[in-house]
Amino acid sequence: MFFILLLSSVLGLSVSSAHARALKRDIAPFPADAEVGTVNVDVEAQTAAYIEALSLSETEDGGDVEANTIRLVNFDGCSSMPGISNAEAQIYSGWQQAQKIMAVQSLKDGTVDFNTAGALEYLGAAGLNAPRQGDMNTIFKNFATLTPAWWPFGWRIHVRCDDPMVLCSCGESKRAYTTTYDIESKLARINFCPTYFKTETLNKAISDGKNLANNQKFDMNRYWSTQGHIWAHELMHIDWVTGAQGPTGRYGNNAHVTDMKIRFRDTNGRVVKTTAYEPRAAKILARWAFNTGDYTIRNADNLALFMTSQYVQEQLGNQYPQYPLVDIPGPDRPPYTDLFILEETGSIILNATSPDYELFVDSDESCVWDEDEPTPELVDFTALAAASDQEYPSEYVDTLNAWVEEVNPPEEPEPEEPAPEPDMDSPVCIECTNNLGASDCPAEDLQCLVDQCNSDASCQACAVDCDSFLLSSDELAPFGTVVIA
Ligand SMILES: [Zn+2]
Repeated sequence: MFFILLLSSVLGLSVSSAHARALKRDIAPFPADAEVGTVNVDVEAQTAAYIEALSLSETEDGGDVEANTIRLVNFDGCSSMPGISNAEAQIYSGWQQAQKIMAVQSLKDGTVDFNTAGALEYLGAAGLNAPRQGDMNTIFKNFATLTPAWWPFGWRIHVRCDDPMVLCSCGESKRAYTTTYDIESKLARINFCPTYFKTETLNKAISDGKNLANNQKFDMNRYWSTQGHIWAHELMHIDWVTGAQGPTGRYGNNAHVTDMKIRFRDTNGRVVKTTAYEPRAAKILARWAFNTGDYTIRNADNLALFMTSQYVQEQLGNQYPQYPLVDIPGPDRPPYTDLFILEETGSIILNATSPDYELFVDSDESCVWDEDEPTPELVDFTALAAASDQEYPSEYVDTLNAWVEEVNPPEEPEPEEPAPEPDMDSPVCIECTNNLGASDCPAEDLQCLVDQCNSDASCQACAVDCDSFLLSSDELAPFGTVVIA
């Protein structure tokens, strides 16, 4: 209690239990030079939600629970979402899931090895992103500090569920959206859309995935659509997390992290666009050959997928979740690799016959993904090429090829189809039989019969295997009815 009182006096919060609900108070601004806005902290209710969240996220404790709840404020509209009774707990749970990602040692320490598969696939070839590796490590380190802490001057995020920008219904799957500056609270704000609450927890995705066959267990498509990953993704849009100079302030020299668009030609020659979101598209963006690091460091899902993949890797016995493969040219490769065809020339072609094609291409290009940068730069794979395999360590290329072979073993030569059996009841075959039956060939001269058969138009039309007459008579299966005089 002493701690809470201390915190209260510092933050200007009143937390006496008599009126803990719906308090409106000015609090110390974050970052320090930000304008002071109004926040609503209900320590009692938030603490209850935080404790409920611990079981949802399968997190064993959370330190000084009451203090931890102070990081997230307002929760506008969250308790009145139709059909969702525990929205606040699910929001806390997502943050707790993200904290598991934050605990990955190389992220915490900012010591990522850029030559490992996850880094190569989501952040780009190490030789091409070298100038930005230091900045990326700084972002990972910063991200890893967004854990609960008692320190009252720390970060705070305004949470909403009331969809202030009316973006939740745009597109099919918007789960959340974020700004560095909410006009009301002056704080960074994440709005959680109804889809977020239908999304699986990261812990459940992993415990289910662990028991599956390798092609599903090591598939990032199982792990990215989880509350923990959504949190990691949304945090990348906050400029003070990524040290960015964004539209709402300057927190460092990085560019604002947005949701970039990528554009390709499809196999029908049509030019199509999609958001660089989810593993396939992020892996394609990381193949961009020009100033690669400037792109992967600016796309929220490249950074977040890299971080999530590192945590998933840890959880899967230190085996990297390599699917979906985005790889070298070839025929369809189940389960997902047939969506993109990466040609040896460097062109990337979208496979219009893939079952995922319609889902993948932006159905509504006017949808705003990133509130702070509604029209992000487009990476145009129609005009320029992707990085070639030569940019990657040969060990990685060999591994990738081995993964491809695993899901798409080289085709066994097809056994030769046996010739169809002739239909001996068909008119041509009956005619052939009659002709051979009327033959003048001596009984012992099978070759004579073969020659007659080969020159008989009806026997040819019947597709009789004339040479089989040379076999012993009991092997003349289709010719059981042929009378050899
Ligand atoms: Zn985003």
